[in-house]
Amino acid sequence: MKRLDCLKAIYPRLEGCAVVTIMGAVAAELYSLGHRANFFYLEHAMGLASSVGLGIALAQPKRKVVVIDGDGSVLMNLGGLTTLARSRPNNLVHLIFDNETLLSVGGGAPGGYKWFTTATATGTDLAGIARAAGFPRAQMVRELGDFEEAALDAINGDQLSCIVAKVDAEMPKSFLIDVHMLENRFEFPRALQTKGGVN
Ligand SMILES: [Mg+2]
Repeated sequence: MKRLDCLKAIYPRLEGCAVVTIMGAVAAELYSLGHRANFFYLEHAMGLASSVGLGIALAQPKRKVVVIDGDGSVLMNLGGLTTLARSRPNNLVHLIFDNETLLSVGGGAPGGYKWFTTATATGTDLAGIARAAGFPRAQMVRELGDFEEAALDAINGDQLSCIVAKVDAEMPKSFLIDVHMLENRFEFPRALQTKGGVN
């Protein structure tokens, strides 16, 4: 399963949501589908996408918040899952693309993935951890159809959810994001101040 195909499957549904991605490949691939003002690409804060998403979810309980994360980042801040579960915002969906590597820091180089694997490559189950932390819904998917169904159901649903998608360790075609961090920092909160798009 390819991360880009997963993003394409949910992209139309992200309109009106507050979308926070972690840095690296997943941010670049979401950007490649078309930037929107309601997308925030969290740079230089590995592990903290869910924490930013939690703050937004608590501040705007009527808006759906979609956090798009990676296995390396989640493993760097496992406490983020327990904090989410403790607050249990029913408007937050945590999507984790698990490629079992630290792809964006070299794991995607030819042959490199063997040297940059994460603990999920040796059996750590992030959906299991989320469930044990207290997420009312947490599941792992391996097929595109299953991802689309689970992710859209979670976004349309009304409970804190974690969907872990096992994806190929594949680099994006480009890491270009032609939106400056400061531009993104101001554009994003302005987008969240609009009434339109509240889910
Ligand atoms: Mg990874």
